Amino acid sequence: MTQSFSDNEDMSFLKDNLQRVKENIAEALIKSGRAENDARLMAVTKTVKPGYINYMLDAGVDLIGENKVQELLSKLEFLRAPLPEMHIIGHLQSNKVRKIINVVSMIQSVDSVSLASEISRQAELHSVTADVLLEVNIGDEESKTGLPQELLREAAAEISQMKGICIKGLMCVPPICESDAEARRYFEKTRRLFEDLKGSLEDKNSFSVLSMGMSGDYVPAILEGATLVRVGSALFGRRVY
Ligand SMILES: *Cc1c(COP(=O)(O)O)cnc(C)c1O
Repeated sequence: MTQSFSDNEDMSFLKDNLQRVKENIAEALIKSGRAENDARLMAVTKTVKPGYINYMLDAGVDLIGENKVQELLSKLEFLRAPLPEMHIIGHLQSNKVRKIINVVSMIQSVDSVSLASEISRQAELHSVTADVLLEVNIGDEESKTGLPQELLREAAAEISQMKGICIKGLMCVPPICESDAEARRYFEKTRRLFEDLKGSLEDKNSFSVLSMGMSGDYVPAILEGATLVRVGSALFGRRVY
């Protein structure tokens, strides 16, 4: 990575952004009658330079998410120790699984049984258990990855039998919506799928993570039961690719 940043760059806007997002999360939790720590904040760091990420880590962020394996790996040496918890949240190619099996503590974007099977294989090879979320294509969009809703239960049943892999919950990225009310319908739908699936799994207690909501819609997501929100631009500013 060739990005540089000056030590005296004023990054205090990051702290203000973090404060605002945390307040909104807290307010949404109160509004829905949930406990104070019931929704975890992930800082989505794709395209964000390490200096900004480190600033957020110092400000108390303890979970980051990256979409791409290569980008995550290239940033690692620039992140301050101790490293935060890290999750992969973007479409993952099977041939990249081995590179991150020991680096991330969760793969949120399991969108096929074949990917799960490679995760299982690599987890066994490395003697670890891989925590995963199943990504569901909640808007039935052709342009999006994610398991089709009608295949979710069958896929979950199959994956839950695999060694070295533990299904922790669901993740979704709904279609772009015009309003909070519209977004909320997708989140509600996802929560229902989550509850149905939980009921059908043998290992119910492990199934507890509902990852939904991004910068534009984390409040309605929490109102519908999100336990993890993935926030990028509301924390770091608009992404420059
Ligand atoms: C980029 C991304 C986010 C964060 O998006 P923002 O709108 O910037 O908050 C969350 N989840 C996934 C899967 C992403 O790719």
